[in-house]
Amino acid sequence: MSETYRHIQLLGPELRNQIAAGEVVERPASAMKELLENSLDAHAQQIDVRLDNGGRDLIRVQDDGQGIMGAELELAVTRHATSKITSFDELCDIHTLGFRGEALPSIASVSRLRMASAYGGEAHELRVNYGVSEPLLPSSLPRGTLVEVRELFGNIPARLKFLKSPATELKRAQEVFERIALAHLDVGFALSSGERTLRHFLPGESLRSRLAALWPEQVVTAMRRFSWESQGLSLHGLFSPPEFTQLRANHLWFYVNGRPVQDKRLLAAVKEAYQGRLTSRDYPQIILFVEIDPQAVDVNVHPAKSEVRFQDEKHLFASCVRVLRQELEATTQVTLEASQSQMPLDSSRMSRPMGFWGRMDQSIEHMPIVERPQYQQDPLPWQDSAPPQPELSDPLATSAATLSEEPARPDTPASPELRAQAHTTQPLSLAPEQAFSGKLPHDVTYLGQIARTYLILRNSQDNMLIIDQHAAHERVLYERLLKKAYAAKGQLLIVPWQMGLHQAELSRLEEIRSQLTEMGFALEIDGQTLVMTAIPPILALAEARAFLRDALTGKSNDYSAMLKSMACKAAIKAGQTMTVDEVSALLEQWFACPDREFCPHGRPTVLTWDQAFLEKAFKRRT
Ligand code: ADP
Ligand code: MG
Repeated sequence: MSETYRHIQLLGPELRNQIAAGEVVERPASAMKELLENSLDAHAQQIDVRLDNGGRDLIRVQDDGQGIMGAELELAVTRHATSKITSFDELCDIHTLGFRGEALPSIASVSRLRMASAYGGEAHELRVNYGVSEPLLPSSLPRGTLVEVRELFGNIPARLKFLKSPATELKRAQEVFERIALAHLDVGFALSSGERTLRHFLPGESLRSRLAALWPEQVVTAMRRFSWESQGLSLHGLFSPPEFTQLRANHLWFYVNGRPVQDKRLLAAVKEAYQGRLTSRDYPQIILFVEIDPQAVDVNVHPAKSEVRFQDEKHLFASCVRVLRQELEATTQVTLEASQSQMPLDSSRMSRPMGFWGRMDQSIEHMPIVERPQYQQDPLPWQDSAPPQPELSDPLATSAATLSEEPARPDTPASPELRAQAHTTQPLSLAPEQAFSGKLPHDVTYLGQIARTYLILRNSQDNMLIIDQHAAHERVLYERLLKKAYAAKGQLLIVPWQMGLHQAELSRLEEIRSQLTEMGFALEIDGQTLVMTAIPPILALAEARAFLRDALTGKSNDYSAMLKSMACKAAIKAGQTMTVDEVSALLEQWFACPDREFCPHGRPTVLTWDQAFLEKAFKRRT
């Protein structure tokens, strides 16, 4: 037998529990979740939770449920001991939240646990220190069960290291608490952090009233109820109209038989139902309860029971899509009618506010806007002897496209800011060989646009320059943003735009508010509502909104990333025809930029092909 041979051994109960704890108890939030589930399974009417130091020092859950017999307290903290199932048949027909008999022993193996419980007029208390039980004691608890978990992971420094700051752990626990509270409206819940009460839900509240404490009022008020049932499947909850979109899927809360779950199929079904009403990157907000025969769903697929498997996934998917679609169709009609009678202004006017133009330089106040029908093939500049005469149109009339928040389509007019610049520069003749007016520091000749994306130029050294119009404009705008060129120069909105904010978004807003102001935003906060009264002059309203939502979701997480994102949103897109004037305006600004050879993301803005390169390419020279 080799010296290195390691014998196979049965692990001791303590180690077994610690291994199980690795799956069941990841952080304070998961321990709290298990305790809440136990209280709910014990038919509690009132559950009070307290977390100290984000749950690291203490997680306390007290309920008025049916309690545990003194003689069984020790069993409750023993692995695979449960009162919830006794046979395989029952495992396939789960009516409780717990059933694995793992939570308490797992928690007790990685903490100092105290559990007191009353049953039949008596009460007892059991303490377990990192898996080692102390003798049972009498307790004065009048009813229900009280569980205290102290110093979670105190015996596993490696796990402790993985915990985030107390504030973050508290936030996660609070989210879990809130999700559970939404699914048990008949039960009263309270959550406190130390002495501070964070949430208080009365028993018997409606779903909408509980949700109103969690989500922005505007969103909750706009949400619609739905309820549908057929052949043992019931779908109900609240859904948002398509206008209330989110960039992340974090406000789609799904429940199966009262259990909060993550489920890709349900997410896909909701997205499918909203299809055509949202852009592909947006998510609606929804609370969806699925009530289904327990035998038709397997809840034993995930140790923390946060995922489930459905026997007939297709049927569920199809039902969800159908139900939500019908509801959405009904709502759209209602909102349309309502908006026709109530809106003070044509909605298209709201997205390109008058102030946008009014506050710009006098000389461009009556700036004409070139509107071209989509996908019209424009001749290259030199193929046309006269520059296309811009039609004079009402600036407000151009904004319909910006309402949709879709990425710019080819051939929407160039950026407002470039058009403005273009108008102040002398229009150029379209003769191919003609150099730009003396405004350009470099002696270049503009030859034309290729693929509505690349600008071809010749410089005085007879080199060919190919400039990416989007990348070059991005560089220009980025430099200006860096210089805070738009601070306090935002374009006022006639109708301030409002958006209800979630708590996380509010705190993010606090962090970045001064930076947003430097970019040209003017923002006020009214309770949980963000009121935007001015936007950076380089953005259309829809772009400003999209930018703000990105910024508040924390997608661009540092200042320079935010500036890059704004420069990118505001820059002229690839695929947009540019008039010679616009090209001239762009190049004038671009030539004046430091680091102009690269866009803010580091991609090249210009390729230079000299004669030697061309000769090689044509194999005139090797
Ligand atoms: P499970 O919930 O999967 O059965 P747990 O380890 O969470 O396993 O709990 C073990 C047992 O302890 C439960 O089956 C239940 O009988 C009892 N128990 C736990 N918490 C409570 C409580 N708050 N009220 C009444 N009984 C409880
Ligand atoms: Mg349990």
